[in-house]
Amino acid sequence: MTRPRDAAILELKDLLGPKGWSMERDVLETHNHEARGKFEGHADIILFPATTDEVAKAVAICAAHAIAVVPQGGNTGRCGGAVAGQDQVLLNLKRMNRIVELDARDFTATVEAGAILKSIQDAAEEHDLLFPLSLGAEGSCQIGGNLATNAGGLNVIRYGNARDLVLGLEVVLPDGSIWNGLSKLRKDNSGYDLRDLFIGAEGTLGIITKATLKLFPRPKHIATAWVAVASPEAALDLLALARRTTGDAVAAFELMCGFAHDMSVTHLPNLTRPLASPTDWHVLIELTSSRPKDDLQSLLTDLLGDAMEGGLARDATLAQSDAQRKNLWAIREGIPEAQGFEGGSIKHDVSVPVSAVPDLLTRGMAAARDLIPGIRPCPFGHVGDGNIHFNFTQPVDMEKADYLAHWESLNRVIHDIVSDLGGSISAEHGIGQLKRDELAHYASAEKLKLLRAVKAAIDPDNRLNPGKVV
Ligand code: FAD
Repeated sequence: MTRPRDAAILELKDLLGPKGWSMERDVLETHNHEARGKFEGHADIILFPATTDEVAKAVAICAAHAIAVVPQGGNTGRCGGAVAGQDQVLLNLKRMNRIVELDARDFTATVEAGAILKSIQDAAEEHDLLFPLSLGAEGSCQIGGNLATNAGGLNVIRYGNARDLVLGLEVVLPDGSIWNGLSKLRKDNSGYDLRDLFIGAEGTLGIITKATLKLFPRPKHIATAWVAVASPEAALDLLALARRTTGDAVAAFELMCGFAHDMSVTHLPNLTRPLASPTDWHVLIELTSSRPKDDLQSLLTDLLGDAMEGGLARDATLAQSDAQRKNLWAIREGIPEAQGFEGGSIKHDVSVPVSAVPDLLTRGMAAARDLIPGIRPCPFGHVGDGNIHFNFTQPVDMEKADYLAHWESLNRVIHDIVSDLGGSISAEHGIGQLKRDELAHYASAEKLKLLRAVKAAIDPDNRLNPGKVV
């Protein structure tokens, strides 16, 4: 007799054809693997639907057989959100990667959810436009995953998070029906904002299949500098000065501690130190403008001159070529990889009001040193958004496993301080499985009740990405 799950798998195979599914070991190993190695997937089948209709029908088959579905994009997420259990079905959107329409008059792009972020940036650039979402994994993450996690990245200070860049969505619901919320409307106050419910829901409410995104004029000028600052307070003063004196041309403003910079330039190949003397705190600042006549190099030179005179900056260098600019960004973006060369790291993706960042850093580093003597703090991140990747590298003389055993106690210490400062325990990476219990710990009873009520209303049988977020 055929088991109900086997019957469902036969139906799915029949629906999707040979290219639309795989049970091969190699394929499953790739898609079950989670880069951080904290969560292991166990799916024995992965689906690769090619159209919204196929996603809808596949979800309906799974619903009819009481099988849970886990959506997966580029599998670059940091919270174990795209990991499926043994009895679940993994559904990857990679075959749905078309740019459906690019409308240069409406400044919009309508894309399928499996489109790689970089391919959307490139398509916009071909029309002299900009899609500003930008992050280290842009060559492999999918726009569906970006929207499901409400990704942040490098340009949030100027353009906002993924949520701010979306006009409409098409979503397959847990019963297999399709909500067509694709729209180019800039204004629409007709009822609850369903679009925003699905953005940041990490695949627990619906599977995003298409999106209409906002585009912007492409910057004609970019000026980038590396600056040594005395302290995080000085970095924030520099940021405020830069915003005021450049007509808000700041497109990125990243803070790094000296240890993070040193690891990057020491461990990663072909990187050049931007400044001769060592410093405790570094800033990467980038200005952009789409006004043809702007002279951003002069603007940035004047800004840094004022910052040196006012004691905000100790030293600075401006990128004089695209190669130099790439070198600066490679130092910043290489930090997580470089950290791996120094042993185990315990990471926190947190945010506080921008003005509270210095307090967070001082209190967090002191508390971590009290808890684990010899611990090496490695904070860096999007300080202009109040978002710090508050990472900690293991003490030199400790075994990695012994250090990682402190994961939860260090989380508690840092998240308590974040909470005390009115911050968030997840700034841009989401909740997934990694922070599900932390969310339950820190969210108010009212917030948790509302989150659970929304999940129960849209997915009453808990069929989509169960065990994640709430
Ligand atoms: P996945 O990892 O496949 O999935 C993430 C979550 O979204 C899962 O819960 C999954 O179920 C769900 N999901 C995926 N596709 C869909 C869909 N179509 N519909 C519904 N749910 C779906 N993140 C930032 O925010 N800012 C950064 O600066 C940043 N930098 C990074 C740098 C590196 C080197 C790496 C490896 C990651 C970085 N990330 C960053 C994290 C990650 O890239 C983002 O979270 C990204 O948005 C995830 O996209 P993905 O396609 O890989 O999604």
